[in-house]
Amino acid sequence: MKRYRDYNNYLREIFGERVHKISLDAGLGCPNRDGTISRKGCIFCDQRGSGTGALINHGLSIDQQIIRARKFIQKRYGAKKFIVYFQSFTNTYAPLSDLKRLYDQALTQDDIVGLSVATRPDCVDRDILELLASYQRDYLVWIEYGLQSAHHRTLDRINRGHDVECFERSVSMANEYGLNICAHIILGLPGENREMMLQTAHFLSRLPIHGVKIHLLYVVKGTPLAELYQKNEVRCLGQKEYVDLVVDFLELLPSKMVIQRLTGDPGRSELIAPSRAKDKSENLKLIQETLERRNTWQGRRYQKSTVGI
Ligand code: SF4
Repeated sequence: MKRYRDYNNYLREIFGERVHKISLDAGLGCPNRDGTISRKGCIFCDQRGSGTGALINHGLSIDQQIIRARKFIQKRYGAKKFIVYFQSFTNTYAPLSDLKRLYDQALTQDDIVGLSVATRPDCVDRDILELLASYQRDYLVWIEYGLQSAHHRTLDRINRGHDVECFERSVSMANEYGLNICAHIILGLPGENREMMLQTAHFLSRLPIHGVKIHLLYVVKGTPLAELYQKNEVRCLGQKEYVDLVVDFLELLPSKMVIQRLTGDPGRSELIAPSRAKDKSENLKLIQETLERRNTWQGRRYQKSTVGI
């Protein structure tokens, strides 16, 4: 039994069977890359917009992407129901009518049961949230906001281009529309120690957030982070260090929060460091073993986390 609220089990509870995500690249951009906010992007992001699962789809239509992914997933995992996941770049960064066309296109097949949209917290407004909320009658809908850290200093350092308050406002607004909200965070960001990372867990635990994706910071080719790494100005977490931190982090989150991801999933050919980031299943196994060895679980320290922050 998992000692955290695992995303796959959560989906099984709702749909009664295995449901798999199909990662899509909608061909959208990002204001942190096109010069609206900055041209540099977040320091860990490469030219493909951090959408590792959707990389192979770039340039294909939404329909083609779904057909291709469905075939692969059905064969490999036996899933018969799917959630379309707009992953690459900023998936609310377009006129409303274009967004509606893209989302509608992705939801035409009977076996699509959900919609998940990854975006920046500074790229939503009420019209977009209302559009997303309109799909909730027929689909499971999640909005995924990149935050990465609850520390201003870190957000500046990684060139996020938005602040923590912006994230809080966008969470509050999405919550008004009844959307499921997932926050993306990264452990091991430059300048952060263990205490700072756990403060991010405290921060998330106080907000109306329904899910979290926890990523390990990894360095990929062609990023500002790669340059810093090559100059020895940043280091990557060791495997044990990461696993222990994830367990500490989970302890502080509410037990009902859905854990959508517990480690990063870098493209093998792009990865510079740490090499163990490639061993996703090994990392997940170690996290589970550590939870058991420490006889702990998600939410074990949650009550304490709301005091004195
Ligand atoms: S917001 Fe996303 S797509 Fe844009 S630069 Fe940052 S990681 Fe890349």
